[in-house]
Amino acid sequence: MKLPVTLSNSTTNGNGHKSVSTRVNPAISSPLHANAFLLSDDEKVVLIAEKFAEIMEIMGLDLKDDSLSGTPERVAKMYIHETFQGLNPLNKPDITLFENNYAYGEMLVERNITLHSTCEHHFVPILGVCHVAYFATGKVVGLSKLNRIVKYYAKRPQVQERLTEQIAAELKRSLQTEDVAVYIDAEHLCVKTRGIEDCASSTVTSHYSGRFKDAGVRSEFLSAIRS
Ligand SMILES: [Zn+2]
Repeated sequence: MKLPVTLSNSTTNGNGHKSVSTRVNPAISSPLHANAFLLSDDEKVVLIAEKFAEIMEIMGLDLKDDSLSGTPERVAKMYIHETFQGLNPLNKPDITLFENNYAYGEMLVERNITLHSTCEHHFVPILGVCHVAYFATGKVVGLSKLNRIVKYYAKRPQVQERLTEQIAAELKRSLQTEDVAVYIDAEHLCVKTRGIEDCASSTVTSHYSGRFKDAGVRSEFLSAIRS
């Protein structure tokens, strides 16, 4: 079995296989096991389809029915290529920085970034918006890259607190600054459609560092995202 690509931070396990280490800060890393990337995406799709067919079978569904027969493979492809694509480091967006030639020195806010994630406790959607902000150092970033960072970390089984921290850590790394803010407001379908079945509540999480720890700077950010 071969790893699809060798990354610079890969290690070799006891079987001689390469395994990818995604552990940057263990406290906020997604909990992946050591062999998370021994299988290729195609191999994972085949295995997940088999297992999902078993789940449907156990539930009593007739997989010979026209409407259901393609569901296991459809779900498997959706998991690997869409819903959980952010588990695979190969899908991490490349961030290109540009010189800040226009000497922009104020806060930049990218607000209302669509956030579609998945609750790792129930495997149902988390739907919301993410607002991010930073102060440029000598470099600036293409705006859509901010959306791509949010999307990459959202497309995993998540808890909202970890997602917030992962986005903040990546913004600091990519933008080479501590001056970042992240604010997520999201509805959890595990709260909305099962259990307590509360359709009105939403969950807010935030991360402020560097200049955003200053109350005035923080309130400028909050008024920008609420206007
Ligand atoms: Zn949940």
